[in-house]
Amino acid sequence: EQRKLLRLKFAPAQTVDGTEIHLCANIELPEDADVALEAGAVGVGLFRTEFLFMNRGHQSPDEEQQFAAYRRAIEGMRGHPVTIRTIDVGADKPLDYRDEGRDGYEVPPNPALGLRAIRYSLSEPQMFLTQLRAILRASAFGPIRILIPMLAHAREIDQTLDLIAEAKRQCDIAGQAYDRNIKVGAMIEIPAAAIALPLFLKRLDFLSIGTNDLIQYTLAIDRADNAVAHLYDPLHPAVLHLIALTLREAKKAGMPIAVCGEMAGDPTLTRLLLGMGLTEFSMHPSQVLEVKQEVLRTHIPTVEKLVQDVLAAFEPAEQQAALTRLARC
Ligand code: PEP
Ligand code: MG
Repeated sequence: EQRKLLRLKFAPAQTVDGTEIHLCANIELPEDADVALEAGAVGVGLFRTEFLFMNRGHQSPDEEQQFAAYRRAIEGMRGHPVTIRTIDVGADKPLDYRDEGRDGYEVPPNPALGLRAIRYSLSEPQMFLTQLRAILRASAFGPIRILIPMLAHAREIDQTLDLIAEAKRQCDIAGQAYDRNIKVGAMIEIPAAAIALPLFLKRLDFLSIGTNDLIQYTLAIDRADNAVAHLYDPLHPAVLHLIALTLREAKKAGMPIAVCGEMAGDPTLTRLLLGMGLTEFSMHPSQVLEVKQEVLRTHIPTVEKLVQDVLAAFEPAEQQAALTRLARC
């Protein structure tokens, strides 16, 4: 079985009807780019940069250290694109100097609903500008995109874009090269973002659905709390409808869109996502070949119809029956 999967590594990820599917990898450290390539990924769909900042005591990486890390990742991908997400700290990803130690800082009552991800970056503009400059400078070495986590409000998107423009100005003044057409995208991981998608379609270049948080916030289930882990359900009809809505609206607007949460790496969900119109997946490198195997045996026009049955089924038994038909077709 393992050998069969390995043979798939060099096969293009194409469905039976000839649709090309992009299977990318999620990485946490720059060296993981090597693992991603080795796994057969055609790009990095999510570089979780907060891992460069975590478990470092009170020292966060400076601009040069970050630049070196982002450059290492893009060079490691040998011409394939890398989507770098600005830091997503807080909640399940604590920062030592903020969430544990900084003088006077108190852990908020609901960290998952608090000052995390882009909210934190906008509250620390100097830190954010440092990260943006480091990413911009690395974009001179290969195709890089900037991805922003946890956006919900028009004002946050605008503030973020203003800071990116400011970081570009700073690079210009310092004479540092960068990709002037660098694409900026948003994670869709708060239900409000999925429902108010036109705000994002108008302002950004691409989108990526973060199903891990989308599930957490849609179902009000803390993703880190074992006591409610049994209620954390990717197949809850509300979750599926939000994903389907987002994919449909993005496609209608001609906006590139990926899924980069754990759902994208689950081969039992590949057909469901393909049938909703997804063509770009980003996942843990270890999942790429198993998902590719599903892609290769799927005929999109056929699964599209069956996925409509899954979406129409609100009762668990009905949904299960529709999923079984989808798996067997
Ligand atoms: C997600 O929320 O689905 C996601 C990909 O980001 P993270 O798991 O890092 O929050
Ligand atoms: Mg997330």
